Amino acid sequence: MTPGNEHTTDPVDLFIIGGGINGCGIARDAAGRGFSVTLAEKDDLASGTSSASTKLIHGGLRYLEHYEFRLVRESLIEREVLWGMAPHIIQPMRFVLPHHKGLRPKWLLRLGLFLYDSLGGRKKLPPTATRDLATDPLGKVLRPGHGTAFEYSDCTVDDSRLVVLNARDAATRGAMIRTRTKVTSAQREGAVWRIELTDQISGAEETVFARMLVNAAGPWVEQTFKGQPEAHAVRLVKGSHIVVRKLYDDPRSFFFQNADGRIIFAIPYKREFTLIGTTDADFAGNPGDAEISEGETDYLIAAANEYFATPIVRGDIVWTYSGVRPLYDDGASKAQEATRDYVLKLTGEAGVAPLLTVIGGKITTYRRLSEEALGHVQTALGARGGDWTAGAGLPGGDFAVEQFGEKIAQLQRDYPFLSESDSWRLVHSYGTEAWAILGNATDAEALGRAFGAGLYAAEVDFLIEREWVRTVEDVLWRRSKLGLHGEQIDSAALDAYIAAALDRSGTKAAIAQR
Ligand code: FAD
Repeated sequence: MTPGNEHTTDPVDLFIIGGGINGCGIARDAAGRGFSVTLAEKDDLASGTSSASTKLIHGGLRYLEHYEFRLVRESLIEREVLWGMAPHIIQPMRFVLPHHKGLRPKWLLRLGLFLYDSLGGRKKLPPTATRDLATDPLGKVLRPGHGTAFEYSDCTVDDSRLVVLNARDAATRGAMIRTRTKVTSAQREGAVWRIELTDQISGAEETVFARMLVNAAGPWVEQTFKGQPEAHAVRLVKGSHIVVRKLYDDPRSFFFQNADGRIIFAIPYKREFTLIGTTDADFAGNPGDAEISEGETDYLIAAANEYFATPIVRGDIVWTYSGVRPLYDDGASKAQEATRDYVLKLTGEAGVAPLLTVIGGKITTYRRLSEEALGHVQTALGARGGDWTAGAGLPGGDFAVEQFGEKIAQLQRDYPFLSESDSWRLVHSYGTEAWAILGNATDAEALGRAFGAGLYAAEVDFLIEREWVRTVEDVLWRRSKLGLHGEQIDSAALDAYIAAALDRSGTKAAIAQR
C-alpha cells in the first residue's frame, strides 16, 4: 500500500487541492511540522503545469528586465538549495547566450549577468564567462558569423519527479496523498471545511472535513470556486516546447534572443534529445486541453533556425508538450511581461475556516512558497515548528552534488549487466534508491519482465508501490521520459502488467484516465 493512505473521518488540519509542485511542497512542509494533511489530485501527480515546464531551476535572467529583483534573488538562492536536496534529478547547466548586433547591447547583457552572479546564493555554480563562438567548438553548430557570447550557470530539473519526491516525503511524514481524486465542492461549515470528493476511477463520492483549505489547483485555481467570493482572478498563459533528436554533441545549452524581444532555450535533454522552448500566449479554456498550435510550432522552428547551422524541419519533432501558467493578474499588457512572482491570499475572518489560495509561482520557488504558506497556516491554526526543508534531502538524494558521476560508476560496478546509459538513467531518476529497485539482481532476467528501453518489472513494481503509478502514461511520461523511446516499448504488455499488479494489490487501474 502506498504510504500514508489510511482513511479517517476526523477533520484534518490541512486539506490541499492539487498535486502539482506547490501542493506537494506545502504538503511535505506541513507534514514535517506535525500537521495532519490530506492532498487530493484529480489526475496523476504532476499531470498539470508541473510536468510541462522548461525544466529549469533558474533565477530567470529575463525577469531582470521587468525589475523582478525579489523573485530573481529568491530563485537564484534556491538553485543551490534545491540542487543539494536532490542532486540526482537536478543538474548544473551552462547556458551560452550569443550576442547579436541590433538586439540587447553588450553592456546590458554584462550588467544583467553581473547581477545574476552576485545577487545571492552562488557558491558552487561557476560564474559567467565570455566566449568567442568563432573559436569555441559550440560555435560550429551555429550559422557562421557569431562572435562574442556570454556563458552563465543555472540548473535543469526533472520537474515531474521533483513533484513525486515531495509527495513521497510528505507521505513518509504522515500526509495522505490521494491521486485520481477530484474535489467537486468545498463549503465552510463554521470553523471547518466540508469537502466533497469524487474518485475518478470508481466514481465513488466521499465527504471529508478540514480545519483549513489550501487551493493549489494551479491553472484551475479560479475554477475551484467559480462564481464564489473565494475565486481569485488569474491570467492563463500557455507555453509550448518541441523536442527533437540531439542537435549537437556538447553539454551546454543555448539562450537565444529573438528579434521580437522574446527568448528561447535549446537544452540538451535526456542525453539523446534537444528541448526547444518556450512560447508565451494568452490562453482560455480547460488547461488540461492545452496543446501546441501550428503557429507556435512554426515560431519555435523559425527561432531555432535563425541560429542553428543545420535547419530543423517539422519531421524532426519527436515530442511536443504545452503547459498553462496561472499568473497573478497584474494587468500587464503582454503575456511575457506578466509577473512570474507568486501571491498567497489568506481569507476567512475569525471563527471561520481559513482558506489559503496559491496563485502563480515557479518550480524553482516552490520550497520558499511552501515556507511562506506554512507561515499563514501557523497564523491560522497555531504554531507547530520552524522552517525545516532547506537541506532536508528528498528521497534518493542523500549524496553530495559532486558525487553524481561516482554514483553512476558505482551502480555499474555493483550491477555489471547494466549499460552506462541505463545506469545514468537510474541514478538520474532514483539516486540512491536505484539500489533498492535493483536489489540482489545479478543479471537482467532477475529484474523480471522486460518492456523495452531498459524498463523492467522491478522498476514498474517500485513505481506502483511507492509512487502512485496507475497507467502506462504515468510511467512513460511523468515518472520517466521513456515515452521518448516509445517505438522500443511494448506498451500493451506494460498496460497488462500494471493492471494485473494493481489487481493483486486490490487497487484499481485508472481506466477512466486512459
Ligand atoms: P499544477 O502543476 O498545475 O498543479 C495543480 C494541480 O491541481 C493539477 O495537477 C491539477 O490536476 C490539480 N487540480 C486542479 N483542480 C483540481 C480539483 N478540483 N481537485 C483535485 N485536483 C485538482 N518554472 C520554473 O521554475 N522553471 C521553468 O523552467 C519553468 N518553465 C515553465 C514553462 C512553461 C511553459 C510553463 C507553463 C511554466 C513554467 N514554469 C517554470 C512555471 C511552473 O511550471 C509552474 O509555476 C508550476 O508548475 C505550477 O505548479 P502548481 O502546483 O501551482 O500547478
